[in-house]
Amino acid sequence: MFGCSSPKPFGETFFEEIEMKQTVIDVLRNSHTQRVNFIYTAVGGAKWKIYANDFVTVALNIEQGNMDVVEGGVPAGTAKYTIRDDRNSKADTFYIGRNNSTQNIFHSVLVHESVHAIYDVKGIVMPWLDNEAIAYIAQGFYLLNAGRDGDLAEQAFYGYQVAQYYYTNERSDRESTLRQSLLNDPLYKKYIKKNFVGDGIEPPQNQPKAEKNERIHIVKPGDWLSKIAVTYYGDAMKYKVIHQANLQVIGPNPDIIKPGQRLVIP
Ligand SMILES: [Zn+2]
Repeated sequence: MFGCSSPKPFGETFFEEIEMKQTVIDVLRNSHTQRVNFIYTAVGGAKWKIYANDFVTVALNIEQGNMDVVEGGVPAGTAKYTIRDDRNSKADTFYIGRNNSTQNIFHSVLVHESVHAIYDVKGIVMPWLDNEAIAYIAQGFYLLNAGRDGDLAEQAFYGYQVAQYYYTNERSDRESTLRQSLLNDPLYKKYIKKNFVGDGIEPPQNQPKAEKNERIHIVKPGDWLSKIAVTYYGDAMKYKVIHQANLQVIGPNPDIIKPGQRLVIP
């Protein structure tokens, strides 16, 4: 059904979501995405690498049901990836608006969001601005590889220019132009000093972020840490490991845990 634009019958959202999910998987595995490969240098000097296998990882997570793809929930022509529950969205989910653009532009937006998913699945927290810039550069590479069609939104255009600079081995000083354009955008400005978790959503407070292979234990009445340690490790003394991994939630005293607390079991 790739590229099909038949009219939407009512009551067929389940079918459409499967179709959209397959579109995202196909884009992440297509040859344009699989050629996206670059290193981004953050202002502080940290280097962040993006390469083909990162997108395969996201596709696998969607295929295995670790990530959802939902059609709608955001304006047409936009998408967002979010790692947590809030009023309007659920964790580990791509929300994808109706495509009101050309196919390459639309697909480049999916590549952009998948960059956020990559850092989520890797458990990497970085300044929001850097994560956003990397996402735009990946989007730019997609457009470069696919052959840009139609008009580009301003940010995507900067991403495209930065990608072009990387591609031709010129100095990638357009990175700073892209960062500056994001800094000047009122939509992004309020997030600039924060760490990144998803697209445009503030970090959850005092809530541990689970790695995909980590377990979560919700504290029940009558639980205490050594009992939980026996359940998961068969060793009461492992309560120290659980305490250390959840210091922000539990606080300094391992004897006090409260029902409803979410504990990461490393
Ligand atoms: Zn983004």
